[in-house]
Amino acid sequence: MDCLFCKIIAGEVPSHKVYEDEHAYAFLDIYPTSRGHTVVLPKEHITSFLEMSEEKTAELFASVNRIAKKVIAVTEAPGVNIGINNGLVAGQTVPHVHVHIIPRYENDGGGSMHTIVDSNPDREELEQLASVIHSKF
Ligand code: AMP
Ligand code: ZN
Repeated sequence: MDCLFCKIIAGEVPSHKVYEDEHAYAFLDIYPTSRGHTVVLPKEHITSFLEMSEEKTAELFASVNRIAKKVIAVTEAPGVNIGINNGLVAGQTVPHVHVHIIPRYENDGGGSMHTIVDSNPDREELEQLASVIHSKF
């Protein structure tokens, strides 16, 4: 499997590891956007979050929660963004699911999730879209 993150998990590529359990592995991002920027991955190779089962995502996010608390305790950051770039158009560069933990600091110059992309639908479009999505459950 020619996957960078699988190689990191296997110890074939070095990383600044901060956590490991049965299901998850976490290290400091090599190009951190902020101090403490951490990446958490499932040990099992999977490309897309949307291909994961609810059980696997529950395991992954339990680890993310555990790790984020420690990262924030150590960095003393007053805020944090937690998220996934899923798919090429969303900015995913490594095709192995991973969750970014990005500590945020006063006046760090960064934005919120709302700065990723923009749209301006009217109420009718929102209502229509909500009802279609709701009907899928
Ligand atoms: P994404 O762009 O969401 O796919 O995130 C991939 C992340 O992996 C980026 O933030 C990279 O900086 C980070 N990254 C790439 N190679 C390494 C590496 N060898 N060790 C640690 N982080 C890495
Ligand atoms: Zn992989």
